Amino acid sequence: MTLKYCQGPDCHTYHTQDRLKGMKGSKTYQTRRRSSFYYGNGNFCDQRCMYNWFQQFGDQAVNHFGRITEVKHLTEENAWTKDWNYPDHGNDRNYYYLNTITKEQRPLTQEQYDDTNYTINTGE
Ligand SMILES: [Zn+2]
Repeated sequence: MTLKYCQGPDCHTYHTQDRLKGMKGSKTYQTRRRSSFYYGNGNFCDQRCMYNWFQQFGDQAVNHFGRITEVKHLTEENAWTKDWNYPDHGNDRNYYYLNTITKEQRPLTQEQYDDTNYTINTGE
C-alpha cells in the first residue's frame, strides 16, 4: 500500500506522539504518512495543515488557476433548486422545483427529483 504524505508545510513541526519517529537518540518529528487523508481532497492530515498550505500557497494558486475579477451572476433561468415538503394531509412527499429568485414553484415527480442529471436550469 502506497502511503500519502500530508502536504501541510509545517506538519512535521507539530509535537504529537504519532509524528515522533526513529531510533532512540535520533528521533525526529516527521510529516504524517497515511494510506488516506480526510481533508483537502485527501491531501492533508487535518484542518491546520490544510490552512497552513493555503496561507503559504493560496494566493499563488488562485492567481494560477484564475482569479475572479468581476461579479458572477446566477440568473432566474438558473436559479431552480429541487425541494420537497409534506402536504398538509397525507404522508407522501411533494416534490417541486423552486426558483430561488422568483419563488415560482413547479411540480416534480420523484423520479425527476432523484435523477441528478435532470434539471431545467439552462446552465449558462
Ligand atoms: Zn499534516
